[in-house]
This record gives sequence, C-alpha cells and structure tokens, in this order.
Amino acid sequence: MIISLKKHTPEIEKQKLITDLENQDFQITIIEGVHMTLLALTGDTIKVDDKRILANPWVIEVRRMDVPYKLVSRYVHPEDTIIEVGDVKIGAGQPLVIIGGPCSVEGDEMMCRLAQDVKDAGGKMMRGGAYKPRTSPYAFQGMQTEGIQCMVHAKELTGMPIVSELMSIDKIDEFVKNVDVIQVGARNMQNFELLKALGKVNKPILLKRGMANTIEEWLMSAEYIMANGNPNVILCERGIRTFETLTRNTLDVSVIPIIKERTHLPIIIDPSHATGDWKLVEAMSLAAVAAGCDGLMIEVHDQPECAWSDGSQSLKPEKFKTLVEKVKKVAEVLGRSI
Ligand code: PEP
Ligand code: MN
Repeated sequence: MIISLKKHTPEIEKQKLITDLENQDFQITIIEGVHMTLLALTGDTIKVDDKRILANPWVIEVRRMDVPYKLVSRYVHPEDTIIEVGDVKIGAGQPLVIIGGPCSVEGDEMMCRLAQDVKDAGGKMMRGGAYKPRTSPYAFQGMQTEGIQCMVHAKELTGMPIVSELMSIDKIDEFVKNVDVIQVGARNMQNFELLKALGKVNKPILLKRGMANTIEEWLMSAEYIMANGNPNVILCERGIRTFETLTRNTLDVSVIPIIKERTHLPIIIDPSHATGDWKLVEAMSLAAVAAGCDGLMIEVHDQPECAWSDGSQSLKPEKFKTLVEKVKKVAEVLGRSI
C-alpha cells in the first residue's frame, strides 16, 4: 500500500502518521519525491481502513497495491479448488457441470418430470426455486417448504443433487437438511448476515453476482462466507445491469478469465437470467464455455408460456438437449468434457 503525502507536510505530522502505522505492525519505507512524499506500507494491509488514512488532511492519496481479499485469492491459494456435490465435482478442469430446471417449482409431478428431462439431456444437477425473490409483492412467491419437498422427491427418482435459493437465515436448517447446493441470489449477494451464517454451514454455496456489483464486491462476499469457515463457494455470473434494454441483463463473459486469474474458485454461468430471452441462451452458453467456465445453470420448462415465473427465458427440454450436445462439442475443442 502506498500513501502519498503533500510535499510540505510538517515533520511532526509525518512522524505522527508513521508512528500510528508502526503501532499497527506495518513496516514503512519513506520515499522523498520531488512533488510529494511516499510512504510504502508492508505487512498485512488487508485490515487497513483506507478512508481513515484519507481523513488526514496531509494525505493526497492511498493506493492499495494488493487485493482486499485473501481466502478467495489465487495469489494466496494457487491451486484450483474442486467443489464436490455428491459424485459431481466442479472446478479445476473437471467435466463441465450443467444444472437445469424450472425457475420456480410448480408442483411435484412437474418437478420430477423436468428433473428427468434434465438428466436425460446430460444435466448433472437440478435447479428449482421454492422461495422466490420477486420484484412485485403480488407475484408468485414460491411453493416454499412444499416446493423443497418436490425437489427432494425428484432427487429420490433421479439421483440428481438439488440447487435452490435461500433468502433468509431462518430457513437455513431446512436447506441444510434437504438441499445439496445453497444458492445466494443476486439480490442477496451483499446480505452480510446471511453470508456470515452460510459460512457456518457444511454445504456448498452458489454465490450469484449482484446485478450492480463489481467483481471485487462479489469476491468480498465470497470472502465473507470463507472467512466464516465455509471454503465451498461456487461463483455464478448471471448478467449485470447496463444501459441496454433489449436484454434483461448483460452477460459479462470477461468475468470468466478474470475470476480464473484472481481466484481459485469455480465459476458457472447463468445465461437465462443474463439474457431474459430463451433465444439467446444457447449462444451465450457456448460463449461462456469457450471462455472457460466450469458449468452452466439453465432454466428449463416444458410449457414456458404457462410458467409461473421466467417463462420467456426458459428452454423447452428438447432445446436444452440440443444445447448440451453443442456445449459438449465446444468443450471437447478445449480439451474438456461434460
Ligand atoms: C434464480 O436463479 O432463480 C434467480 C432469481 O436468479 P438471480 O438471483 O440471478 O436473479
Ligand atoms: Mn428465474
């Protein structure tokens, strides 16, 4: 970390700041420049409060040379992490994991039927929302406990692990008991109390990127889960808000190599919420696989026009099957399988 001080900072003020930093166990190297004085700070700067240093009227700028997270960082943990969900392994060049299923669970028969369709097409896990974060309080809010039970039944029939979204701490026990991967939705990415609580559970967490969050904020949220004791985090990009209106969100494909460079965690892509349009889902899936993601999460419904949520972005099972076949070919070019 570099702190730049105004050229004519009184010696007494400079010393006060240096002593304060040395008392916090940092080593300081002073560089007298032509236009300013630089203090190069070494030590565990992760806990430094930049804003407090900036409040000093003699300070011009505080520049962090390292990243503000450590447990998620590849610089600290160079090897790729593999997350295990039953027999399914995600990350580190393992076969791509495709997760499919409806936006919302709409009933037992529907969930079991779609789970079987997803499995037959080559999917490895099923998704389904039982607690739904809807923009409107008048929209369908999810089948809740009954919905979770439909997924448990679909798992009994197909053997596929369950991915489902948890929205509040009071339902954690229900999720730990019944769900294999606990999803934190885009809207809860910075619900820090929820993240802390999920740090204490022994289940993989699928952490979606918030629709208006930077990569660094997203990684800090992953750090919350890991710093509280749970190393099993899967990152999921689901599109961010931009000025574009022809798509629901804008899929940030560049995030894939950035995440691979900066972290050791697996990353999967959700092209359904990223586009909001079933016609774009296949192309974005192929692009994401080409860019090196570890898996995809795709909304599937056999009657999208009657879906209780997100029908316009849901693929029919036969289209999902074609997508999986194409993904397989792109993966093979890159030396990966599904
Ligand atoms: C979902 O996956 O069902 C969902 C609501 O996604 P997001 O949090 O990305 O909007
Ligand atoms: Mn949805």
